[in-house]
Amino acid sequence: MSEMNAENDTNDVADLADISMADFQALIRKMYYTKDAERGIDGTFMWLLEEIGELAAALRSGTAADRAEEFADVLAWLVTIANVAEVDLSSAIRNKYGSGCPGCGQYACQCADSEKP
Ligand SMILES: [Zn+2]
Repeated sequence: MSEMNAENDTNDVADLADISMADFQALIRKMYYTKDAERGIDGTFMWLLEEIGELAAALRSGTAADRAEEFADVLAWLVTIANVAEVDLSSAIRNKYGSGCPGCGQYACQCADSEKP
């Protein structure tokens, strides 16, 4: 995370209409890091899987509001694990996808459908 993000207080971050990944990771860290670090990666990963199950249910039979909430929860738990594992998600995303598809290098993927990019 950049110094700028580390200096944001929670209200500054929460007030952003279009929150960046770096700001979201900083916000999650500020709200939950102490608990997350104590729980550890394994326990936190189980919460992520539970939230993924809830997202599946919302996609299958939930309302639009249910789906939005479950996407937010899945992302929050993924970011939580990144915090505990000391992964800067903004950098990780930029490094992996910032120059196009990691498989073919194109911005509109040209990989064969059978390939996982
Ligand atoms: Zn591709």
